[in-house]
Amino acid sequence: MFLKNIDAETRQQIENLLALYYKSGGGLPVDIELLIKLLAKLIDNEIEIIKDFIIKKGGILSPVQWGFRIYVGYTNLLFQKRFTIGHEIGHILHTFDYTEDVPQQKPERESNCIFKNMGEEYICDDIACYLLCPQELVIKFMEDFHNIPCQLELFRKKQTSPFTARLKLISKIFGIPSAEFYRYVKRQFGEEKILSLVNST
Ligand SMILES: [Zn+2]
Repeated sequence: MFLKNIDAETRQQIENLLALYYKSGGGLPVDIELLIKLLAKLIDNEIEIIKDFIIKKGGILSPVQWGFRIYVGYTNLLFQKRFTIGHEIGHILHTFDYTEDVPQQKPERESNCIFKNMGEEYICDDIACYLLCPQELVIKFMEDFHNIPCQLELFRKKQTSPFTARLKLISKIFGIPSAEFYRYVKRQFGEEKILSLVNST
């Protein structure tokens, strides 16, 4: 159900990465640096992260002779940095063929510098959320919406809608920007389901 539009091979690599992460003692919220180290091992390429690069938002993934370099844009928001790295992991696994000497974009997923391949961007956003928030918990959030045990009072004070309060709480627990997390559940579950939840609270 999750990660629609993803081929079986990429999906398997994502599951392998998560299995490796939890087997290595990785906990929640996800330790993104550990995830990168394990990804490098899994795909047998080096991955270097350059932080606080002077771009407005988001990141740039640059294939190099020995693997990948991820430039993470400058932001004060820790959640945004985590999400950006998760998104670039998505590109490594979904957009690139990393078995080549120098990683190449898969021809069918190519984009150029001027026009982004938006389908690809949404998929990589979804991969970032999938990596950062375990699927079972998103399902619980959606299906067992009224019974999520949570300390909502703090959030309720500032929020009028319990839906928004829960959304923010989940995003805070897992270190995901709430706007991206919202778009993720909307894409995965559909707008109707979200609206029914919003209206039922
Ligand atoms: Zn991207």
